[in-house]
Amino acid sequence: MRALLATMSLALLTGTALAAPVPVVASFSILGDMVQQVGGARVAVTTIVGPNADTHVYEPKPQDAAVLGEAQAFFVNGLGFEGWLDRLVEATGFKGAVVTVSDGVKTHTMDDGGRMATDPHAWQSLGNGQLYVANIAKGLCAVDAEGCATYTANAEAYAAQLEALDTEVKAAIAAVPEADRKVITTHDAFGYFAEAYGVTFLAPEGISTESEASATDLARLIDQVKQEGVKALFVENMSDPRLVQQIAAETGAKLGGALYADALSEPDEGAATYLDMFRHNFGLLVPALEGK
Ligand SMILES: [Zn+2]
Repeated sequence: MRALLATMSLALLTGTALAAPVPVVASFSILGDMVQQVGGARVAVTTIVGPNADTHVYEPKPQDAAVLGEAQAFFVNGLGFEGWLDRLVEATGFKGAVVTVSDGVKTHTMDDGGRMATDPHAWQSLGNGQLYVANIAKGLCAVDAEGCATYTANAEAYAAQLEALDTEVKAAIAAVPEADRKVITTHDAFGYFAEAYGVTFLAPEGISTESEASATDLARLIDQVKQEGVKALFVENMSDPRLVQQIAAETGAKLGGALYADALSEPDEGAATYLDMFRHNFGLLVPALEGK
C-alpha cells in the first residue's frame, strides 16, 4: 500500500501541470506580449528591449547573454529591425532556436535617407500580426512538442481577436474622408499600417531612428503640412519628440498625443499589450484625422 502511494505521488509530481515553464526570450516588448499570449502558462518569457524603449538603437547588455543562455527559443522580428541581433547571438553562442516571426510577410521597401531599405515594422498591421502568431505557435511547438495542442489552440483564439480588431479599425478609418487621412509621426514606423488601413504617414526620420532628419527634409515636411492642411501630428512613445514638436510649433498644427510605434507602454499606461496598443493608436488617430 505504501509503495502504491509512493508511485502515485511520483506520477503527480511528474505530471504536466507541475512541469517548469519553457524559458524563451523575445527581442522587444510587442513580441514579448504576443509570445506570452500564445505560450500561456507553459512558457516563461523574458523580453530584451522593454516598454517605451527603442529597439533600433539598443545596445546589448551582459544580462542579455545570461538570459539567452537559459532560453530554448529566441523570438525576433527580423527584417533588420534588431540591428544588434547577429552580434548578440554570436557573442553568447546561443544554441537554441532563433524564430523569425515576420517570415512570410509581404514586405515593402522605403526610402531611408537616400537608400532603399526594407521596412521592418510589420506588426503595425493586424493581418501581419496574425502571421506572427502562427509563426510563434510553430516555434513553440518545435521546442515543446507536448504543449503543441495548447499553443495551437491559444494561437487560434488570439488570432481571432486580432482579426476582429482589424475589422473594427478598417471600418473606423474607412468612415474618414480619404483626403483627411494624413498623419505626421517622428519616424517611418507606420508603413504597414498605411497599407492595411489606407492612411498616409509622413515622417521627418526614416525607417530607423538611427539616422537624423536633414534640415531640408524637415523644411519640406513643414511646407507639406501647411499646404495640405495636415491636422494629425503625433509623437511616439519610444523616440525623441522634439522634431514633431518643432513641426507643430512652425505650422500651428495641434499635437495629438503619443502613438505606440515600436514598443508597448508600462503596465499602467494603457498600451501594455499588442491589442491595447492597437486600440490606443486607432482611438487617437480617428478623431485627429476628423479634426476633432
Ligand atoms: Zn521603428
